[in-house]
Amino acid sequence: MSQAFLPFSRPTIDEETIAAVGEVLRSGWITSGPKVQAFEKLLSDYLSGRIVRTFNSGTCTMEIALRIAGIGPGDEVITTPISWVATANVILEVGATPVFADIDPVTRNIDLDKVEAAITPATRAIIPVYLSGLPVDMDRLYSIAAKHNLRVVEDAAQALGSTWKGKRIGSFGDFASFSFQANKNITTAEGGCLVVNNADEARLAEKYRLQGVTRSGFDGLEVDVLGGKFNMTDVAAVIGLCQMQHIDAVTEKRRALAKRYFAAFGKGFEQEFGAQLPVADFENSNWHMFQIVLPDRMPRAVFMEKMQAQNIGIGYHYPAIHLLKLYRERGFKEGMYPVAERVGRQIVTLPMFSAMVENDVDRAVDAVKSVLK
Ligand SMILES: *Cc1c(COP(=O)(O)O)cnc(C)c1O
Repeated sequence: MSQAFLPFSRPTIDEETIAAVGEVLRSGWITSGPKVQAFEKLLSDYLSGRIVRTFNSGTCTMEIALRIAGIGPGDEVITTPISWVATANVILEVGATPVFADIDPVTRNIDLDKVEAAITPATRAIIPVYLSGLPVDMDRLYSIAAKHNLRVVEDAAQALGSTWKGKRIGSFGDFASFSFQANKNITTAEGGCLVVNNADEARLAEKYRLQGVTRSGFDGLEVDVLGGKFNMTDVAAVIGLCQMQHIDAVTEKRRALAKRYFAAFGKGFEQEFGAQLPVADFENSNWHMFQIVLPDRMPRAVFMEKMQAQNIGIGYHYPAIHLLKLYRERGFKEGMYPVAERVGRQIVTLPMFSAMVENDVDRAVDAVKSVLK
């Protein structure tokens, strides 16, 4: 008998959240208001008191961080080719030049040696990505940034709840951007937040998220920077407030599921099937995703189709950004970042969400093994 479809990701929304959203909807104030302020305060408390501002995505957060840093035309920003395309798009959005550095085949994160090699006199910032919630070597990242006087915009979209040497990602460092998109460990349906360094940056973040407007008194409205429309609603913020009650449990549950994946695959899996498991990190990663890299003999589309036929949903995060048309038109081509190209071709995301049970993991692993045989 075939079992129910197991998606690769699914948000967990409890009845308390649904009731809280209803309350906001009935309250007469549904856009940015008291819930947004409370959510920002809660996130700030969670991140050791650093200043946090919320937005309507984890994409505009990074664009705004680049604007606050004064990065624009003529400036180079180094990032990874293996991320959601948003990470590179924001560099183009502010008129700066994206520079890619290849990834480490083991962590699948940006290779910090390659970052150093890519630095030129025009380099102004680095955007590292913590793929599936696994951070890069944060000590090394910030020592490179300090040595070359670069800003860091951490694309921590997937890394809320991840840590480095016992400190939460976002609780130290320069800018950190998180996403609350539906598939992320903590969601507001859509949304994001940016951790900034001081009150001046926070004021600028507020301006950029709402048309550049500053107000003082009843008729003192002024606009002195070109902002957009990026504010979070109270409807979204109240979802986030409820979700944050569970963040520690969610992280623990995901780590337990990841452990179960390793146990179910078993020690000989990589040797026998030629596939590559993720780094077995149960200390730093929040296990936003559990990703494996398929052997070259197995085309990803065939794998995904066969898994689908066994009622297992498989995700694909991510194709190498530099090979997308928009980037090829800017001179990037096949062969430039060979590690990213292979990973971008062969990586797949197995089911991972906090409502999963161990039997779901076993089902997914059995299916992977039968398809790879
Ligand atoms: C989700 C995600 C983003 C974008 O976040 P949105 O909230 O969807 O705009 C950016 N980078 C990475 C690595 C992500 O996973």
